[in-house]
Amino acid sequence: MRSNESYPTSAVVVLGAGPAGLTLANILQSHGVDSVVLERRSETQVRNSARAGYLAPDSVAILREHGLADGLDTHGHEHDRCEFRSAAGRIELHYSRLGSGRPHTVYPQQHLVSDLITQYRARGGTLRFDTTVEHIDHTGEHIHVHARDHTARALRFTGSYAAGCDGSRGVSRTALAGTVTTTDHGVTWLALLAQAPPASASVIYGVHADGFAGHMPRTAEITRYYLQCDPDTDPDALAEDQIWTHLRTRLQTPGSPPLPTGPIIERALVRLRSEIVDPIGSGRLFLVGDAATSISPSAAKGANLAIVGAQLLARALLHAVREGDDSALRRYSQEHLPRIHRAHEFSQWMIELLHPPAATHPDAPYLGTMQRARLHNLATSRVHQDFFAQNYVGI
Ligand SMILES: Cc1cc2nc3c(=O)[nH]c(=O)nc-3n(C[C@H](O)[C@H](O)[C@H](O)COP(=O)(O)OP(=O)(O)OC[C@H]3O[C@@H](n4cnc5c(N)ncnc54)[C@H](O)[C@@H]3O)c2cc1C
Repeated sequence: MRSNESYPTSAVVVLGAGPAGLTLANILQSHGVDSVVLERRSETQVRNSARAGYLAPDSVAILREHGLADGLDTHGHEHDRCEFRSAAGRIELHYSRLGSGRPHTVYPQQHLVSDLITQYRARGGTLRFDTTVEHIDHTGEHIHVHARDHTARALRFTGSYAAGCDGSRGVSRTALAGTVTTTDHGVTWLALLAQAPPASASVIYGVHADGFAGHMPRTAEITRYYLQCDPDTDPDALAEDQIWTHLRTRLQTPGSPPLPTGPIIERALVRLRSEIVDPIGSGRLFLVGDAATSISPSAAKGANLAIVGAQLLARALLHAVREGDDSALRRYSQEHLPRIHRAHEFSQWMIELLHPPAATHPDAPYLGTMQRARLHNLATSRVHQDFFAQNYVGI
């Protein structure tokens, strides 16, 4: 083991270079508050990690307000319709004409993260990739963050505050030791990226007795698909033909255009779980994004909660660092948690809408009837459509 290297005090040590950490660090940096961002993975891995794509209007407004939206304004596109397909037929919802009347912006997460890295460096920020945080000492006057670089050299970073943006399995959640409430939704998705144009400009939710399938346009050449599967599915064991057959069965209805096929370029199993930490801040350590809450991707809220939370925490940190007033920091947890709870409530609602009850569930026939009734409400009732639209784009 090599010797311990210490770095001078930064106002804020940010753990993790995902949407949460990079948005936060950019806002701080643009207001003259210095930070250092520590990231376990390499820069190439971070810049190429495809995950989210749907940005809520509030997230877009935050990115624009802080000069972080050039890429998404140039290459992203507005998205304002979705479609449900089931045995009962097709329901098309033009959601920017319902509810609060707002669209999503589609911009792949890896492009946003790349923009945020470039922008943070341009603002003079310090980013350390290949640096794994192992331990946070937040009991004293300053925070000490202990990490290792890729050569196993021990490093120590000192800050007035630390922002835990290191995801649901990072060390900051453990260090904060809040209560974690959790649920396993009993649903597994095969998350796929296909090098194939979207079948339609809309998100399509296939609500099928075999299981859910989702179609999410990403770019003109790339489409994300989700396929509900058994939890013990080996993603690599499924032939591409089988995958396209399942997708066609669940997503195509009579008269709908065929799904354009192409090579599957990425496949991963996603178990739908949700977790909420409470509190999400204490003393000098605060959690944002997936570190504060992991949320099932059923309503595409994770990256959006990360961006909105980053702005809230950044404002509170600016107040504390520049004016010596930490009252907003002390309110951070109680202000952000209700928003997290509402996002979970809607994501849970979506899970019940999209997935058939497990065949082994004793109440499966009853729950199946409820699922069909919920779809019927969406097809026929303006109040239900407004509820959906408002929550679908809201955060
Ligand atoms: C398939 C899929 C599709 C999704 N689609 C959507 C969508 O459409 N819309 C949406 O809003 N959300 C979506 N999400 C969720 C979204 O991607 C996440 O919520 C988002 O990435 C959270 O951002 P974050 O910055 O909090 O965490 P992350 O993006 O996970 O970043 C955390 C970073 O911390 C680093 N890290 C972890 N541990 C350490 C350590 N010890 N030391 C240093 N660094 C560490 C990690 O390497 C990582 O880079 C999707 C997720 C998945 C899996």
